[in-house]
Amino acid sequence: MERTLILFKPSAVERGIVGQILTRFQQKGLIIEGIKMMQLDERILREHYAHLVDRPFFPWILASMMASPVIALCLKGNDAIRVVRLMTGATNGREALPGTIRGDFSLSGQENIIHASSSPEDAKIEINRFFRPEELFEWTPQNLQFLYAPDEA
Ligand code: ADP
Repeated sequence: MERTLILFKPSAVERGIVGQILTRFQQKGLIIEGIKMMQLDERILREHYAHLVDRPFFPWILASMMASPVIALCLKGNDAIRVVRLMTGATNGREALPGTIRGDFSLSGQENIIHASSSPEDAKIEINRFFRPEELFEWTPQNLQFLYAPDEA
């Protein structure tokens, strides 16, 4: 199974919708392997959004992502990286389809509720960026046979 990294951005924390979104992931059958609150700083954000540091709106991203603590989440599941990106929707909340997290909770290209890893390579780097090894718990839920066929888990 794959692990993926989600950040509940200040747009989720401040609006008090973390629980609703976490419920979606749990309803889907994704397994929580790590969860913690943290205050991001410029150093970690320059690393995390390295592909955007030269864009004119980067200072806004910094301010937006440091406006409150965030909640980092590591989820496990079959094909979890792709599935969570599908559940997340397009970057701009106005373009994201209804039924997706951004489509249901955001009207913005910036204040778009969560970050979700976009590839297996990024997921590995991002999980290491936001979690120490002892903060992650590899465990198998008792109901796995009701989540997957034998060749899927
Ligand atoms: P995604 O978060 O969908 O993987 P990107 O990696 O392209 O998308 O962008 C990272 C984050 O930067 C976005 O989630 C959003 O918060 C912010 N962002 C992207 N484009 C813009 C923009 N044009 N103006 C303001 N913020 C932006």
